[in-house]
Amino acid sequence: NLSERLGRTLKNLRGQGRLSEDNISEAMREVRMALLEADVALPVVKDFIEHVRERAIGQEVATSLTPGQVVIKIVHEELVRLMGESATPLSLNVAPPAVILLAGLQGAGKTTTAVKLARHIRDDLKRSVKVVSCDVYRPAAIDQLHAYADQAGIEYLPSDSSQKPLDIARDAVATVRRQGVETLIVDTAGRLHVDEDMMAEVQALNSDLSPAETLFVIDSMMGQDAVKSAEAFNNALPLSGVILTKVDGDARGGAALSVRHVTGKPIKFLGSGEKFDALEAFHPERVASRILGMGDVLSLIEEVERKTDQDKAKKMAAKIKKGGFDLDDFRDQINEMNRMGGMSSLLDKLPGTGQLPAGALNQVNDGMFNRLGTIIDSMTQKERRKPDIINGSRKKRIAAGSGTSVQEVNKLLKQFGQMQKTMKRMKRKGGLQKMLQGMG
Ligand code: GDP
Ligand code: MG
Repeated sequence: NLSERLGRTLKNLRGQGRLSEDNISEAMREVRMALLEADVALPVVKDFIEHVRERAIGQEVATSLTPGQVVIKIVHEELVRLMGESATPLSLNVAPPAVILLAGLQGAGKTTTAVKLARHIRDDLKRSVKVVSCDVYRPAAIDQLHAYADQAGIEYLPSDSSQKPLDIARDAVATVRRQGVETLIVDTAGRLHVDEDMMAEVQALNSDLSPAETLFVIDSMMGQDAVKSAEAFNNALPLSGVILTKVDGDARGGAALSVRHVTGKPIKFLGSGEKFDALEAFHPERVASRILGMGDVLSLIEEVERKTDQDKAKKMAAKIKKGGFDLDDFRDQINEMNRMGGMSSLLDKLPGTGQLPAGALNQVNDGMFNRLGTIIDSMTQKERRKPDIINGSRKKRIAAGSGTSVQEVNKLLKQFGQMQKTMKRMKRKGGLQKMLQGMG
């Protein structure tokens, strides 16, 4: 899966300050494979990769992230952006009745979706609604809608297969107008493949009814063919949105990106089951994560960061156990704190801050820690390893070298001594590992 593969690529990318053509190309190969595995159509993959590459090249890498992580972030952000608006509602603010026309191939889920939408409109939008079937070709298609509507407690207008689709629809509009029903959902026929007759018919319905919404219903399992049918329907009809069905199946959601890319129309709902309440608002983040094959891409980034921190914490803990925590380590910790956004932000994250003895960390602030760093920098290697040897003359030299005073050097040494004691105490309590993990 992509997270594992990118994990490998990440290692190779580590330690570079700026994204380059070369290291991006490697990551893009992985992204490309993941998208194809998720059934995003090839031309869409190509466009997407090109777009991400352009955005990524030359991008600076924040010190706290590796280049690989920056690439994943960009990929995820672009996926979300290209997938379009989140949860676009139905726009039914027209003179009633507002007509919703459903179009799509046979088996896409139009009839099921008609009833799901009716429930949503009745229960969530509090509008009166009826459904009608214009599918006069498939045997029992009309009965299917009636049966579904009965099951879901939705009202339907009768029709039969001897009528012409256009007549059924016109009659239905006239009827609901007379009855004062605010919304009419028109279910249409589909073919197994796009064909001219079907397109002509649904086009005629659309121009006659001037629907408030013309929705393209597509099966998310369509895979590579999604592009072809989306293109055909988008060219034939002024689509106002898309409903992607069967997202509860194995499909990785690539069709969402393909359809969005081809039509440019908002994905309004996801069908997530055969039951009539299985209709969800569309959230691009979720589908983007699904396409990338991860529960959540950002959690991968967090995971990588957490692991690096744990490694460091383990090394540090081992050192302290041997009694070897010295001023060099203290200096490292200060650097690390700065890297992570300074002491003040760190204190918020630190677990068990309450356990620390008063005086150890209670007067810390970022400026002070930077000063401590400067003082340590003015010490010799030997002094850092064995602070005990720092006598009066050494203190004077260190103070002069760091532009501080002997008092401040004394204060630092005292604080370091306190810190060592604190660590010993926490080691006994078993909280040390925890504390260091929190500190990075
Ligand atoms: P139509 O030919 O476009 O009208 O498609 P139907 O509404 O008859 O649906 C075709 C099949 O897909 C039926 O067996 C439905 O139960 C099933 N179906 C529709 N929507 C969903 C969905 O969101 N999830 C699942 N799992 N099945 C669905
Ligand atoms: Mg049908």
